[in-house]
Amino acid sequence: NKQVIFKGYVSGFPKETDMEVRESTMKLRLPEGSNGLLVKNLYLSCDPYMRTRMAKLDFLTYVDSFRPGSPITGYGVARVLESGHPNFKKGNLLWGITGWEEYSLITAPETCFKIEHTDVPLSYYTGLLGMPGMTAYVGFFEVCSPKKGETVFISAAAGAVGQLVGQFAKLFGCYVVGSAGSREKVDLLKNKLGFNDAFNYKEEPDLDAALKRCLPEGIDIYFENVGGKMLDAVLLSMKIHGRIAACGMISQYNLQQPEGVHNLMNVVFKGIRMQGFLVFDYYHLYPKFLEKVLPQIKEGKIVYVEDTVEGLENGPAALVGLFSGRNVGKQVVVVSRE
Ligand code: NDP
Repeated sequence: NKQVIFKGYVSGFPKETDMEVRESTMKLRLPEGSNGLLVKNLYLSCDPYMRTRMAKLDFLTYVDSFRPGSPITGYGVARVLESGHPNFKKGNLLWGITGWEEYSLITAPETCFKIEHTDVPLSYYTGLLGMPGMTAYVGFFEVCSPKKGETVFISAAAGAVGQLVGQFAKLFGCYVVGSAGSREKVDLLKNKLGFNDAFNYKEEPDLDAALKRCLPEGIDIYFENVGGKMLDAVLLSMKIHGRIAACGMISQYNLQQPEGVHNLMNVVFKGIRMQGFLVFDYYHLYPKFLEKVLPQIKEGKIVYVEDTVEGLENGPAALVGLFSGRNVGKQVVVVSRE
């Protein structure tokens, strides 16, 4: 059983060498009487929150630290090989938390979602039809209170979540602008994902000027994925009674000291509503989400860009690549295609 082992707690930017790919000779077997699952992992998801789990966490949060010496865990798509749980049978497909290894024992199958629709690429359940898709959906529709015709700005717009927020907002009738860290990504936003406009924040360090050029009348909704300097600049362009969905702040995850935000008083002056949210609190909406999104995928109204690497041994580089913007679209690790 090939595994990606977490070597020890990380500070600063994570490195490939913080993980090690090893072969385990221990035979995995479902213990007698267990209500767990033995699964074969097919696709693994690289998600920015996994960086939080690489630190020794001494503050209140929604996840635990990874255990040094054990395989890292995260969202993935897997096939059930043996089941002790009434909701799953041998051969079923699921998405949920699993190990970064070829085979895993899942001890809490009730947290996994059975995959019923297999006429879409299975890897979509790490992204568009999994946790990031739900994040985009609830973040936009439940947190942002959008109205047709409003202006929406999305940072890290070419990633797993951002590309979907943009498409949901466009289909809803908003004017959509995104920022991303390369020309290739900006091109993708404008020419494939249907954004009205986009800019490369690395080539245009004057973020305030870039925002004023793309959104001269201001921003009604900011979907926040990045934090730091971007948030500061956006606050200057927010309209009266604008909404900010604080989804994530990836620019801060590897800093010892988070950056200060200087323009926060705009929240007061402009009566802005800024709301953080965690997707886990909204999983009860998953059936409603599928009902809306599956037809949109089949009709070609929503497209999804994935960046796949083949093989567990390429997982660590793909995971740390999230923090340098290496991924173009949703970063997926293929463990096995069958
Ligand atoms: P992405 O697929 O967008 O990958 C991360 C991207 O972030 C990179 O490709 C890079 O793109 C950008 N990035 C990395 N470092 C920086 C930096 N210092 N400054 C600006 N941009 C940076 O990830 P996701 O779509 O999965 O996640 C997007 C955000 O959503 C994250 O903040 C994540 O933590 C959050 N999230 C929150 C959830 C919740 O429940 N609240 C659930 C899921 C995700 P680029 O080339 O553009 O720089």
